[in-house]
Order: sequence, then structure tokens, then C-alpha cells
Amino acid sequence: MAFYQKYRSKNFSEMIGQGHVVQTLLESVKSDKLVHAYLLTGPRGIGKTSTARLLAKAINCEEILAAKKDNKSTTGEPCNKCTACVDINDGRAIDVIEIDAASHTGVDDIRDLIEKARLMPTKLKKKVYIIDEVHMLSKSAFNALLKTLEEPPEHVVFILATTEIHKIPATILSRAQRFDFKRAGREELVENLKRVAKTEKIEIDDDSLDLIAVSASGAHRDALGLLEQVAAGANGKITISETRQILGLAENAEVEKFIGAIFNNIPEEGLKIAQELHNQGYDLAEFNRAVITTLRQVVLLKVAKTIQLDGTKEEIKRLTELAGQADEDRALFLLQIFIENGKLFKEVSIPVLPLELSVVKSTQYSGFSTQDSVLSAEKNLKSEIQDLKQDQNIAAVIPAKAGIQAAQSQPNFPSARSGQALDPGSRAAVRDDKNEGENEAATRKSDQEVDTPEILCPVPVMEMTKDIWQEIISETKKENATLAALLRDAKPDNLTDDTLTIGVKFKFHKERISESKHAQILSKIITNVIGKNCRVVCKIHDGKSKPIQAEKKEDMNKIAAEVFEIE
Ligand SMILES: [Zn+2]
Repeated sequence: MAFYQKYRSKNFSEMIGQGHVVQTLLESVKSDKLVHAYLLTGPRGIGKTSTARLLAKAINCEEILAAKKDNKSTTGEPCNKCTACVDINDGRAIDVIEIDAASHTGVDDIRDLIEKARLMPTKLKKKVYIIDEVHMLSKSAFNALLKTLEEPPEHVVFILATTEIHKIPATILSRAQRFDFKRAGREELVENLKRVAKTEKIEIDDDSLDLIAVSASGAHRDALGLLEQVAAGANGKITISETRQILGLAENAEVEKFIGAIFNNIPEEGLKIAQELHNQGYDLAEFNRAVITTLRQVVLLKVAKTIQLDGTKEEIKRLTELAGQADEDRALFLLQIFIENGKLFKEVSIPVLPLELSVVKSTQYSGFSTQDSVLSAEKNLKSEIQDLKQDQNIAAVIPAKAGIQAAQSQPNFPSARSGQALDPGSRAAVRDDKNEGENEAATRKSDQEVDTPEILCPVPVMEMTKDIWQEIISETKKENATLAALLRDAKPDNLTDDTLTIGVKFKFHKERISESKHAQILSKIITNVIGKNCRVVCKIHDGKSKPIQAEKKEDMNKIAAEVFEIE
């Protein structure tokens, strides 16, 4: 027997995390204020069906009925000893009828049910109909049910359960007493898991139980299912590391190592970790979620240093160290990438691809490394493109495809034009943030140039994107906050082979940025970021163009809103 069946609550007091519901129900049993229709609503796996059965027992328990007859007080808890209680516990009480509306949606099913409801109960005091997933009923079935709820036979109680309350007609809602079930808290789940583990003689550490509780997202039934899964897969005392492995969750340390590699711009390391996890059979979508969770914590630590995060002291210490390796903007930028590419897990046929795309994009991998891991990632990307060519209709992945095409063709671009090999340190590849159409245009353009190298191209060697500009500002901030502040008010106008032109609003900005001290720092940083020597020229612009910084801010707010809702 599965744990969740074996440990189904037999008393109201055993229900996990539903204090408010339990209290109200016990009160109504005690004071004999039971009604003819109940509606139990809330997420799956948190005790609605168990509560329905408890209520069926409380309504029919011989001990409770006897107490009421003699005007004696009762706790409201079923005795679990009388024939009624035992029969209901064993699932053989013919007067308690459980129906899954998902497979009995038609009006005929409900008519049949209503016909039988008119007949008196065979053994129990009242007939109890438990209709699960009641939102699945058809409109005519709801109408038939409504008529009965309007004039219910004295000997019948309906207990309706649903995960989708918004699909229940208002007419039904108004005729039933409603109870909203909530997800159980982490501690309540852990307490219960401890109790079950003890009874089952499962040796498991507290960290594992905590992890199971977190993975179950407040669903008591899922928590027991996961405990069962872990217990079945382990030998001897179960540790957190085994639990992670059995549940297909990567180690925190692995997640942090992965993020660290990206923070420090070591794509080979990030790709290697992704490939290893894939080979070991980890759930990579889950890993991606763990990366997002960790990046979110890093950002929280950055913006609110005193914030209380979930986790042990050791975990917080490691997070703080990780947070020290990147600035807030970069962490937010990475969050955006992992959230975006996380959506691809359902679309692509190579499970490791979304992670690879994220690593490549977030470290601006240039495509010239010969490391095995990078070559293998490249192979995956190419084979995925093949798949995609056969299915052009998957709209969600086309931007990724377009990005890859641009990345592949771009490295040829400057060499065809100027006859020089592209500097392997250049970050031109995959830097493109433009939309799909523009990417394709760029691809066509570069193809043409490869075919006819004598045509000189007037466009700049490398596109100055928002990301590159943002990186220049971030790098500058580390060396000179004043200069960084000046750059935030500026906008890159033009980038040619050896000159970056920056547009500023006022003469003041131009003079300050052009000061030799500032110009030197800026020139050095730009050289580092774009991978080639570059001088800086300032000019005052008309102020009509939209500053880059504003767009960036909107993006960041959007990401922040999206991420901080993830719980
Ligand atoms: Zn009883």
C-alpha cells in the first residue's frame, strides 16, 4: 500500500496544514450544524478527499450519534471503532459513494446518481456522495445536480471537491458551504515525514526530509510519495546527497560551481558541468530552476544585504561568496537568460541544449575554442538546427535558431571585408540582441559579402549592443564611479575599426569624459570588453534619441517582476 493511503488521516486532528478547515468542521459536527452540501477547493494532493471521508464518518459515526441523542458533548472526532467508521475506513460502506467527475461528466451519470439518492440509506444514517473534480461536469449535469441541491432529500449529503473553483457555476457555489484548502507549510510537512519515517524505520537525515518537503511544494501526498521513492532507492541511512540523486536534483554545490563558471566567464567549465549532469541522468529543467533560484538569491543579497534567505548558515555563506563574483546588473542579466531559455526545455529534443545556449549567451562565447565540451555543444546546436529545419512551425525556438545562424556567419564577416582574421578574443559572435528579422538580414548580408569580398561594407565591424554598453559601464564602475555615472547619461553612437563615438547631452559631460584620466580608463576598459584597441570620441547629441540606459532599466524591471514571483 502506498504511504499516502497507509497514512491517510483517520481523525481531523491528523490533517496536515488545514487548521482553519478542521476547526470549522469539528465545530459544526459538535454543534450539529451540518449542511447538505460542502464544496472543498484547493490544489491537488493536500487532503480534500481525506477530509470528505472524515466528514462522512463524523456524520455517520455511531458513537457521535449516540452522544448527540443523549445530549452529551462530543469532540467531533469519529471514533474509528464503530461499524460505520470501520466500513468507511475500509472503503466498503455502500452508503458512501465516491464519484470521479472526470470520468462521469455526462447528465445521464448525474441523473442516475440523483435517482439512487432518493432511496433511503441501506445501513448508515445518511448517504454521502463525494464528487471529486466536480468542475469536470457538463453544463446539463451541473443543472441536474443543482435541482437536487435546491431541494435535497433529508438523508443525503453532497461533498464536492475541486482544484478549479472558477469553473464551478455560481448557482452551485451559493448552495454549498465552501472550504478553501491551503498548501501545508514546510515545517508541518517535515514533522509528518519524520513521523512516517520513524514508523517505517527509514533512516534519513533532516536535510533530506527538508528537501523532500520543499520539492513537494506543500502537497502532503507528494511529500509522502517522494519519501517512499527515496526510501525504495537507498541502502542504509539516507543522506542529502543520495536524496538529491534519487530525486534527480543536482547538488547545491554543483549549481554554484556552474554559476561561478559563468560569472567568471569560463564557458568551457559551464558547458562541461551541463554535459556531465546530462550524462548522469539529472533532470536538467530542474537544474535550470535551481540556477534561477540561486541567481534570484544572489540578486536579493545584492540589493538587500540584510535580507533573510532560506537556508542553513553554510548555504548563506556560500551564496554570499558567490554573490561577490558578479555585480547586480550581471546577475539580473543572467536571470533573464536562464528564464528565457528555460522555456525551451519543452520544445527542444536535446535536453542539454537550453543550458548550453544559456552558457554560450551569458559568457559571450566566441566560437573559437577547441575544448571538447565546447565542440560537443556546437555539435548539439547544429543537430538541433537540423531538427528545427524540419519543423519550422515551432515559433518559440525560432529566435534561438536565428541567433545561432547569426553567430555562425558573423565570424567570417570582418575577415571577408578586411582580409584580417577575426581576433579570437572578440566577442562579436552571439552578441546579437536584435530580433529575428534583423538577424536574418544580417545573415544574408554577410553571406553576400563572403561571395563578393571586393564590395566594401559601410556598416561597423561590430555591433555595439545594449549588453556590451552595459558591460562597459559595469566595468567602469569598478574603477571609477564618477566616470560610470557620466556614461550612464551617454549613448554609444558609432563603432568603427578603431573608434567608438559616444553621444552625450551636455558639454559638461563631454569635457569630463574627455579628461585624460577618464579617457585612459575608458579606452582600457573598452579594449578589454570588445577585445581590440579602441579610442573614444565624445560628441554632443540633440537629445532626441532614447538613452540606452532607460531601455535597460525597463528590461530589468520586467525580469525582476517575473523572477520575484517565482517562489
Ligand atoms: Zn464511529
